[in-house]
Amino acid sequence: MKLNEILLKNDITLSFEVFPPKATANYESVREAAYGVAMRKPSYMSVTYGAGGSTRDNTLKIAKGIQEECGITTIAHLTCVGATKEGIRQSLEDMKAAGIENVLALRGDKPKDFEGDPFTDYHYASELVEDIREFGGMCIGGACYPEGHVESENTLEDIRNLKKKVDAGCSFLTTQMFFDNNIFYNFLSRVREAGISVPVIPGIMPITRAVQIRSAVKLSGCNVPMRFRSIVDCFGNNPEAMQQAGIIYATDQIIDLIANGIKHIHVYSMNKPEVVKGIQENLSKII
Ligand code: FAD
Repeated sequence: MKLNEILLKNDITLSFEVFPPKATANYESVREAAYGVAMRKPSYMSVTYGAGGSTRDNTLKIAKGIQEECGITTIAHLTCVGATKEGIRQSLEDMKAAGIENVLALRGDKPKDFEGDPFTDYHYASELVEDIREFGGMCIGGACYPEGHVESENTLEDIRNLKKKVDAGCSFLTTQMFFDNNIFYNFLSRVREAGISVPVIPGIMPITRAVQIRSAVKLSGCNVPMRFRSIVDCFGNNPEAMQQAGIIYATDQIIDLIANGIKHIHVYSMNKPEVVKGIQENLSKII
C-alpha cells in the first residue's frame, strides 16, 4: 500500500523504524528484532539504508520480509551519495520487483571509506526525488530538519531547499529527531508559510541509553532541553531506569503532539521491540 493512502485516512498513525545489518553475519538477529517490531502492528515501518549502498540488499530483504511475512507496509530508505544514475535505476527496479511501493529519498553523507567525489551523478536529494518520480509507481518521502540541516547556513535557506525537494515530487516529509516539541511546532508553521503543504511527520527518538544522546547530538546537532539532560544525568548509569525514563519522555512528546492535532508520528525504534511495546502500552487508551 502507498503511504500517501495511509496518511490520507483520518486515523492517527504510529510508525516505527528499523535498520538492517551491514554484514550477513548478524542478519538473523536483526531480522528477528525487526520482525519483533512488526509484530507490534505499527501503521507502517521504515527500513534505513547505509549511505553508499552498504546495506543495499539487506534493506530490501528486511523491507520485503516485513511486508510479506508480517503484513506491515514498509518504506525503504535510499541514498544517492556516491551512487550512479544506473545504480539508482537498478535499485528502483529491485524495489519494484520486491513489491516495495514507498521510498524515502535521501542524499546521505559521504561514507568514511568512499574515495573520490561522491557527488557526481547526484548532488542533492531533490535530484533523486526527480529520478524516482520519473521511474514511476512509487510514493516518495523526504527528510527535513526542524533545527536546520547541519550544512545549512540558516533554517530559512534550508526550508527554501526543502520546498525544491517537495516540488520535485515528495508526498510527505519525516523530520529528524527533536527533544522539544516547540521546535517542531515552530518549524511546521515556517514550512507552511513557505508553501509546503504535504504531511510533515515528526520523528521521535526514544533515548534509552545515555550514550545515544551523545551520538544523537554529534550527528544531528539537535538541542537537548535541560529537562531531558537532567533525566540522562540522573538515570544514565542505571540501564533499566534510563530505558523506562526514555520511553516515558518519548511517550510524553507523542501525547503532546497528538493533543496539538498532529496525526502521524514516526518513532526511531532502533530494532528494539521492547521499546515499541513500552510506548504502545503507554498509549493504549489514546491510540
Ligand atoms: P538534502 O535534502 O539534499 O539536503 C542536504 C543539504 O543540502 C541541506 O543542507 C540542504 O539545505 C542543502 N540543499 C538541498 N538542496 C539544495 C540546493 N538545490 N542547493 C543548495 N543546497 C541544497 N542517512 C542514511 O545514510 N541512511 C538513512 O536511511 C537515513 N535516513 C534518514 C531519515 C530521516 C527521516 C532523516 C531526517 C535523515 C536520514 N538520514 C539517513 C540522514 C541524511 O542522509 C543526512 O542528514 C544527509 O546529510 C542529508 O540528507 P537529505 O536527504 O536531507 O539531503
